[in-house]
Formats: sequence, structure tokens, C-alpha cells
Amino acid sequence: KERRRLSVIIFNQKLVPLRQRKLDVLSVLRRAVVQESMVKVLYQPIIATKDNRIIAAEALMRIEDDRLGMISPGEFIPAAEMAGLISPLTEIIIRKVSTFLKNHEQQASHLSHISINISADDLHSAEFARRILDIIEQTKVDAGKLSFEVTESMLLSPSDSVHKNWNAFTERGIHFLLDDFGTGYSNLTTLVSKPFDFVKLDRSLVSNATNNYELLSLITGMLKHLGLSMVAEGVETKEQLEVVMREGIQFVQGYYFSKPVSEEQFLRWLSGSMCI
Ligand code: C2E
Ligand code: CA
Ligand code: CA
Ligand code: CA
Repeated sequence: KERRRLSVIIFNQKLVPLRQRKLDVLSVLRRAVVQESMVKVLYQPIIATKDNRIIAAEALMRIEDDRLGMISPGEFIPAAEMAGLISPLTEIIIRKVSTFLKNHEQQASHLSHISINISADDLHSAEFARRILDIIEQTKVDAGKLSFEVTESMLLSPSDSVHKNWNAFTERGIHFLLDDFGTGYSNLTTLVSKPFDFVKLDRSLVSNATNNYELLSLITGMLKHLGLSMVAEGVETKEQLEVVMREGIQFVQGYYFSKPVSEEQFLRWLSGSMCI
């Protein structure tokens, strides 16, 4: 009995730091949704392979807390989704990116778009489009410069709200990108059911491609046949870039060119030659 009690105590002690971390992250999130300065936006360039120029960027969220430091989305996005805090965060990042685009209209004029990741909860919410279109009115951003990244799983069982949101956004000139293509859910139905501006090939496809590019080749062949533009995600090495270019993929995003960078750094590139 003594031993059993001891093992229970040890087991619980292991759990405590983990559970405590989750509670800490949750309390940081609750503060971040009312204190927008805690929400940071990084920009990762998307590069045209033909001339190494920046054609677009993806906005990626971070949350900064005095005590916990910089928290990455891999940790806080699932927590925010679970706690019902994702939609205020989405609104914050859309407002920040819109303000950035408006304040630097001239430098951003060469960009095709800046994309923002949206969550299933956002897209399925009946209120989503109205709230975001309000932000667009307030910031006076050119809506054609904004695009949203969605994943296939979000479109598996599209509700009425999904269609309404989608139409409201596309009518306003906002484009959609299909994110993480080539993982779990890939199917043709999604590709033909909605018009996508770009399909983003998942990092796993790209990193496997140097050993075995059959799968990448098959997928790019299909996407080209459908007339879809592609972005290769997670290009880290010269070898990967070469494989991607050999497949005729015109746009890449990845550490080989740049990690996600601060607004200031991104702006320096935009103000310069648009080259990294
Ligand atoms: P994602 O949408 O697939 O974003 C790409 C992720 O890959 C980013 O991680 C980026 O930093 C990372 N990445 C880019 N190039 C490379 C590379 O060459 N090698 C490697 N190893 N990684 C690379 P990050 O910023 O940590 O974001 C992780 C995920 O969190 C994102 O995956 C996205 O699903 C989600 N996320 C990020 N920001 C937001 C946001 O504002 N809203 C929502 N709903 N989700 C977000
Ligand atoms: Ca994304
Ligand atoms: Ca992705
Ligand atoms: Ca993702």
C-alpha cells in the first residue's frame, strides 16, 4: 500500500509541470486577447524561383509574455482553439496585417498578397465575414492584398456559414490558399470544389523529395493539369530547391531563403530590391 501511494505521488509530480504550463499558457492567452501588444506578427517571404524576388508573404503569429517569453503557435493555437479564444486572435492578426499593408502601401505595392492562417472555428462562424469586413473598412486596406490560408480538413463538411463566408470574402477580392497540401486529407474534391489562388505543398512532401520525388512529381503533375499555382513550403537546402525547380514549381517558402522575420526586417527587404 505504501509503495502504491508512493508511485501515485511520483506520477502526479511528473504531470504537475506540464499541467501548470498549460494553465500558464491559457492565462497568457486570456490577457493577449485584450492586450494586443502581446500579439506579434512575423512575416515569412514567398519567393519566385525564376529571379529570387519576394512576391508575397505569410503572416505567422507569436505571443510574447514577460514571464513565459515568446510562445510559438504550435503550442498556443491548439490551446486557443480549445478555449474558444481563436477568433479574437484571428481578428487581431488580420487587423495588424491590414494596418501594416495600409501604412506601407507603396512598399507593399509589388506584393501579390500577405496571407493569414485562419482556423476552422473562424470559417464555420456565421459572424466571421462581417467582423473581418468591418476591420477592412476601418483600416482602409486594399482587400485584394489579403489572402487566407485554409486546410482541406476545414472544407470536408462545409456548412452554410462556410459558403457564406467564402463568398463574402471572394466578392471583396480576398483570395484563398490551400495550406499543407499532400498530408493526411488530400483529395481531388477539395481542389475542384473551391477556387484557390495557390496550393501550398506541405514541408513533408518537399523534405522527402530529395530521396524519392515520385510522390511530389505525381502531385505537381496533377496540380499543373488543374491549372493551379503552387508554393513549395519548408525548402531548407539547395538540393531541395533544385528538386522543386526541376518539378516546375515557381514559388517557394522556407529557411533556405528566410525564416519568418520581424516587420522591420521584412520592410527593409520590401523597400530595397525585393531580393533577400
Ligand atoms: P503553417 O501554416 O504550415 O506555417 C508554416 C510553418 O512552418 C511556420 O511555423 C514556419 O515558421 C515553418 N517553416 C517555414 N519554413 C520552414 C522550413 O524551411 N523548415 C522548417 N522546419 N519550418 C519552416 P510556425 O510559425 O511555428 O507556425 C506553425 C503553425 O501554427 C502554422 O503552420 C499554422 O498552422 C499555425 N499558425 C501560425 N500562425 C497562425 C495564426 O496567426 N493563426 C492560426 N490559426 N494559425 C497559425
Ligand atoms: Ca500556413
Ligand atoms: Ca503550411
Ligand atoms: Ca498548418
